[in-house]
Amino acid sequence: MVAVDGPSSSGKSTVGAEAARRLGYRFCDTGLLYRAVAWLAVERGIAPDQTAALVALAGEVHLVADKRGRLRNVEAAGRDVTTEVRGPAVDRAVSDYSKVPELRSALVPRQRALAANGGIIMAGRDIGTVILPDADIKVYLFASPEERARRRAAQRKLTADETRESGILDDMRRRDAIDSGRETAPLRAAEDAIVLKTDGNTFEQTVAAVVRAILDADAHAAADADAARGANRGR
Ligand code: C5P
Repeated sequence: MVAVDGPSSSGKSTVGAEAARRLGYRFCDTGLLYRAVAWLAVERGIAPDQTAALVALAGEVHLVADKRGRLRNVEAAGRDVTTEVRGPAVDRAVSDYSKVPELRSALVPRQRALAANGGIIMAGRDIGTVILPDADIKVYLFASPEERARRRAAQRKLTADETRESGILDDMRRRDAIDSGRETAPLRAAEDAIVLKTDGNTFEQTVAAVVRAILDADAHAAADADAARGANRGR
């Protein structure tokens, strides 16, 4: 199991999905669960403090695998809302919902169940610290807010003027502050995470760094297992 955490637009899901493809792992983007709950809540006029109603929404959102088994799509109330949940309205709202402890608790077993059979790269905010504390490898990806705002604007094909007007950078900083400052499962690198700063990196460079980190860790684990077998034989 590989945990990949980091702030929004740090590349967790695109880099994680491509690394998973190259290594033959499954992939899961847990942010989609929180985004889909936030999207449904906004649609239905449910506020973050309406805890019971919010927790009930968790039962209506499901990750959906693509042809390669990657969990990169999400359904809410029975329909695919992957595109909708990536829009600016959800960007603005999601952190105020995802900081609600009861909602997080409802989603913990769901995420652990998805990872149960191993062979998976799981991306999020608290995967290395809370969801999979025993993950074989933990990677924490980050970049400056300015760089991440540029990436998000490029994804949305915005011009420089549109980017300034859109307030993407301010939204990003606001979301970082809520995600890192919340009491339950705040965004932070696990103590044993490999921390990769991706400012100025190409996509390929970051994918290569993540793949290398996973292969190195696999090689170390195999060498340790060999050494332990050798020690047992010598007894
Ligand atoms: O990763 P992404 O930006 O799509 O996540 C959207 C939001 O969902 C985050 O800003 C965060 O508030 C929340 N989230 C979370 N824990 C996760 C994944 C996402 O709190 N494991």
